[in-house]
Amino acid sequence: MSAIPWFDDFEGVAYRYYDLRMNVVPLVSDRKESASLWHDTIRYWVDPSIKIRFVEIGDKYWFIMGADSQKPDTNLSFYKVLQKSENYERFKKGHGGEAYLRLGTYAHKSLNDVKKDALCQCGHEARDHDENDNDECLYNECDCKEFSTFQVNLLKRKKTITDIAFLEEKDVKDDPLVWNCFNANDFSEQE
Ligand SMILES: [Zn+2]
Ligand SMILES: [Zn+2]
Repeated sequence: MSAIPWFDDFEGVAYRYYDLRMNVVPLVSDRKESASLWHDTIRYWVDPSIKIRFVEIGDKYWFIMGADSQKPDTNLSFYKVLQKSENYERFKKGHGGEAYLRLGTYAHKSLNDVKKDALCQCGHEARDHDENDNDECLYNECDCKEFSTFQVNLLKRKKTITDIAFLEEKDVKDDPLVWNCFNANDFSEQE
């Protein structure tokens, strides 16, 4: 197999409708880092060769992405073990075989940065956090002590992905990209 290095130094993956299509958005915490990832690696990817694979194991899934590059010496393959989410399930149902790949950055927002209807990570709105001095959530059953949320910004540049597959654990040997990823990244230790 190829010796393309595996890259997992990103924060997660967002799935968003944008430009009439689902977007798969690896999230990078810092704008500089995302610019260099695009500039050095993804820019050179050959669109029809881009593959994304999802392997579900329990309530988690492996996100695996790789492509052929016009500049193989700076190529990377991406992977990350992530928690299943509503947006992930929506993507799984709705992608229709095609998606855009974009990088995203995210910014942490506190109560003063957002509108009243912004959702906190606890699931309740900003207006439910703002009646005390300390941002605490007012819902009785909620133990959230401070409003916090992440705002995702999608970067403009994009690639088109047409090779998308959801695999079960028993199928991973038949998929070279996934099999390579599992072997290189110690599948058994991450379970
Ligand atoms: Zn909250
Ligand atoms: Zn709450």
